[in-house]
Amino acid sequence: MAKIVVKFGGTSVGSVERIKSVAKILKKKFVKGDKVIAVVSAMAGKTNELIKYSEQISKNFSKRELDVLLSSGEQVTVALLAGALNELGINSKSFMSWQLPILTSGEHSNSRIINMNIDKVNKYISNKGIAIIPGFQGISETGDLTTIGRGGSDATAVAIAKIFDTDVCEIYTDVEGVYSTDPRHFPKAKKIEKISYEEMLEMSSLGAKVMQSSAVQTAMLYDLPLHVRSTFSDKEGTKIFGSESIDYNKVITGVTYSKDDAKVTLLDVEDKPGVAAEILEPLAKSSINIDMVIQNIAPDGKKTDFTFTLKRSDLNKAVKLIKTKKKFLKYKSLTSDNKVAKVSIVGAGMITTPGVTHKMFRSLAKEKINILAISTSEIKISVIINEKHTNKAVKKLHTVFNLD
Ligand code: ASP
Ligand code: MG
Repeated sequence: MAKIVVKFGGTSVGSVERIKSVAKILKKKFVKGDKVIAVVSAMAGKTNELIKYSEQISKNFSKRELDVLLSSGEQVTVALLAGALNELGINSKSFMSWQLPILTSGEHSNSRIINMNIDKVNKYISNKGIAIIPGFQGISETGDLTTIGRGGSDATAVAIAKIFDTDVCEIYTDVEGVYSTDPRHFPKAKKIEKISYEEMLEMSSLGAKVMQSSAVQTAMLYDLPLHVRSTFSDKEGTKIFGSESIDYNKVITGVTYSKDDAKVTLLDVEDKPGVAAEILEPLAKSSINIDMVIQNIAPDGKKTDFTFTLKRSDLNKAVKLIKTKKKFLKYKSLTSDNKVAKVSIVGAGMITTPGVTHKMFRSLAKEKINILAISTSEIKISVIINEKHTNKAVKKLHTVFNLD
């Protein structure tokens, strides 16, 4: 008999029929003797729909009221799911965040769960039935409803698993787990059985969106194992743990890509202290994030080129900001490119394996793919390439690193 937290995302509860199937999954666990706490998202599309309504009312819709509005999405699903379980002959009860309460701190729409009272739920799951808790929300110290950021039900599930000290935290979703690359576009993608928190975080920040990153970070902090699996099949999904529990027989765990980057180059800037800082200062002030930076080395007293990459959506603004400093920065010309892609290989196995960078670059060269920028971390190598080569690059890397 285990105490388990199971979370179901928006597509898993996207229709009445699907809510009924989720009830069946929960019933199975309950009948087996598990003490079950379920966390649910709003029905797929609901949160977006509610946001649209608010935008139709006002461009400056009150943040407080927006949280009241958005938290209603999950209220619908907790009630329907509890009802569906009752219909199957299982006791079940929903607990809204203010009824527990789930306490949060921080601003509206971007709060963080800081504590939770677990007495009522513990009592309920110990002798009665399945407790259902809405994801994505809580209340502030002043008692106002709050939400914890898009995709926040994952974070709710992890927080609850931590606070209830459960044995398992299962994240049910619409894919079978985490894949070695995007399975929708690359049929050779393989489901990963085990992955470390660190790799998972790199994979998500590089384009593989399976779980909310901050939820994975919290799980890592508390060393809480996660199991990401599909609502629509019985198959085991992907287990996420600390890297010490993983046997690395592959150097690389996954290949990811994203097409939301852009590249900016300033030609002939002075090579002296402070120039890079001057170029990036207006961007920092406007909260524009810079990803990679490359500066060539110039012979003494000569000029050099300065390249950086950033989110494509920030490109126009960034170029405008730099141009206002042209007189001061004295660069010759500025070029930008938004038809670039970032392709990355991720794997904790690379820490102990020499030659991974070389192998990656050689493979891309064989495909005649030019590398425009590079960045690395202990468990990741990313390159910026022309967007049109993305498929070729991903396929090649997936093959040469034995992931097919
Ligand atoms: N319903 C919220 C959203 O769509 C939270 C979640 O699904 O995790 O962002
Ligand atoms: Mg979600």
